[in-house]
Amino acid sequence: MNYRHAFHAGNHADVLKHMVLVNLLEALARKDSPYFVLDTHAGRGHYLLAAAESRKTAEAEEGVFKLFGQARLHESIERYLRAVQSHNPVGALLAYPGSPLLIAQHLRQQDRLAACELQPEEAQRLRELFHHDSRVAVHTRDGYGAIKALLPPRIGQTRFGRGLVLIDPPYETQDAEYRQIIASVREGLGRWPHATWAVWYPIKQRRTLLPFLRKAAALPARSIWLAELQVRADDSPLRLAGSGMLMINAPWQLEQAIAPALPILQNLLGQAGATTRLEWLKQPE
Ligand code: SAM
Repeated sequence: MNYRHAFHAGNHADVLKHMVLVNLLEALARKDSPYFVLDTHAGRGHYLLAAAESRKTAEAEEGVFKLFGQARLHESIERYLRAVQSHNPVGALLAYPGSPLLIAQHLRQQDRLAACELQPEEAQRLRELFHHDSRVAVHTRDGYGAIKALLPPRIGQTRFGRGLVLIDPPYETQDAEYRQIIASVREGLGRWPHATWAVWYPIKQRRTLLPFLRKAAALPARSIWLAELQVRADDSPLRLAGSGMLMINAPWQLEQAIAPALPILQNLLGQAGATTRLEWLKQPE
């Protein structure tokens, strides 16, 4: 059983991932036409920060908790914090929403989410969470297989021209995961060319990332950029020093909403040697 992610809910990697995700969802909602989201590695959708397993590593205390005590932050961070706050109606931060819940709370009546989760128990939690929400379909299946099976998305009479694929795997076998991501995005771009692809990746030893990012830069996409938050200077395979979001065909000017938020996160969450970057791998023509 893989409960690893539950231990880390609300850590610096979730802050970066979910801050970018919430801003991306708000950008998608600027047009009336329906959008579709495929969350390939959805997790259970909802985490209790007060639970023993979350406290054990106290990673949320080094992450989202540090942001909650602050006076007004940049609007892009505030959007994310409002989304987290809405799951904590009594004020205190007790619960943390995972990606499918953040996505579902942004869906309009015409939009749809397919959430894939391989672990049956996690998928069951997800199914219970969305029991009453007909806009959300939960699939207990491999998320990469879903790229082939579910794209391009069509539900009843609706063909979804636009939308998002979020790829957030556990990276248990790092090199195999990189290969799978590149192959899946390449296939998916052919199937659903106007969608945005958001791929989360861990930063441990930087040099292991370079071939992955080089291959990503060569994908047949309109635009590609990445946003990274590294909270410590480590360069070790053993500990997460930070993480990044690889953004393929992102909505126009989304990077301008994300860039000013990164140094603020670095100041609030980073230790000595913390860095951030926002870099284009392929500029739109
Ligand atoms: N995206 C979630 C979020 O932001 O809240 C967190 C996802 S967690 C990092 C990764 C999840 O992927 C785990 O729940 C794990 O069980 C699941 N998983 C692992 N391999 C998978 C696969 N091939 N297809 C779908 N889910 C998978």
